[in-house]
Amino acid sequence: MSLIVQKFGGSSVADAEGIKRVARRIVDTHKAGHKVVVVVSAMGDTTDDLIDLASSITEEPSAREMDILLSAGERISMAVLAMAVTDLGVPARAFTGQQAGLHTDTAYGAASIVGVVPERIARTIQDGEIAIIAGFQGVNQENDVTTLGRGGSDTTAVAFAAALRADVCEIYSDVDGVFTADPRVAPAAQKIPALTYEETLEMAAHGTKILHLRAVEYARRYDVPLHVRSSFSTKEGTWIVNESARSRWEGDNEAPIISGISHDTSQAKITITGVPDKPGAAARIFQVVADSGSSIDMIVQNVPVNAPGMANISFTLPITDVKRTFRVLEEKREELGFDKVFQNDGVGILSLIGTGMRSHPGVTAKFFAALANAGINIDMISTSEIRISAVLDADDVATAVRVVHQAFDLDAEEEAIVYGGTGR
Ligand code: ASP
Ligand code: MG
Repeated sequence: MSLIVQKFGGSSVADAEGIKRVARRIVDTHKAGHKVVVVVSAMGDTTDDLIDLASSITEEPSAREMDILLSAGERISMAVLAMAVTDLGVPARAFTGQQAGLHTDTAYGAASIVGVVPERIARTIQDGEIAIIAGFQGVNQENDVTTLGRGGSDTTAVAFAAALRADVCEIYSDVDGVFTADPRVAPAAQKIPALTYEETLEMAAHGTKILHLRAVEYARRYDVPLHVRSSFSTKEGTWIVNESARSRWEGDNEAPIISGISHDTSQAKITITGVPDKPGAAARIFQVVADSGSSIDMIVQNVPVNAPGMANISFTLPITDVKRTFRVLEEKREELGFDKVFQNDGVGILSLIGTGMRSHPGVTAKFFAALANAGINIDMISTSEIRISAVLDADDVATAVRVVHQAFDLDAEEEAIVYGGTGR
């Protein structure tokens, strides 16, 4: 017998039919002899609708009241799901975040978990019942409701899986798992059987919509095996585990060099030329950028050999921040002592991710060759131990995903079935 935490996203419980389908799945798992703890998101677009409701009432809703409002979405789904499960003959009980024992700090709208006290949930499953927990919400020291930020139900699920020492945390949505590339861009993409936490973090941070980033970080910290799968089928999905557990999927083979390709067209680039090549110059520039509220990703600096004493700095940042950051830099040009600043919102970032890269020196060469053969120019590059990212022209990104996917032998024999899901 295992202890399984099952998290169902909003798309899985979008209507009464969905609630009943999910209830059958929970009951099947229970009847197979497992203890089941369920974490559920709000039904369908409920959270968006509640946000719209608040903004139709006031431009600046108070953060505390906003969390009370948003937490209502998960209260609805947990209650009706408990009714549906009970109706199938297995007693189930619903718990709010507070009742379940999820404690957070006071950062309304983006609260961090400070502790999980799962006694009541543990007792419920001990008694042979199913515990159904409202995702995305907790309680703070003031005894007020808090929410964990959009998509936070994943983190709730992982937190309870860790606290209860569950054997697995299953994350259900309307997609079959994590793919080697976005199947809408690369039709030959295939489902990845297993990923490491590190690969998943890199993919999630570079444009692949998989899971709440914090949920993966939490799972890595407590070594909680995740299984990302569809609630609309019983197919195996993608397992997310530590590196030694992942080797089980490799059999006698080595780890794949590239596990997946991510792309991100929500980034822009700023280039600053004629920066004095002196200690402190870059620090002052990035202080100004940080003060403008922008978080940056890749940075490249070089001092042209033919113009010593002056450096050029380029960095990428979210497209939504580029105008503001550009303006602030322009305003401070003299003070910062650089020559010119340029902005470019027509870029995209392509990233190859795989732990196998560590032991295969040829990856960069192969990557460059694949892009060169397709006539695609690379603008900036950055790497980590298990990732290579390149900034490209936004118009080249889709082709780049396909040619690189093929170059690294990731193409499936047959095309992936059309991918209509939201992944939530
Ligand atoms: N219902 C919340 C949201 O839509 C939390 C979640 O779905 O994970 O963001
Ligand atoms: Mg949701």
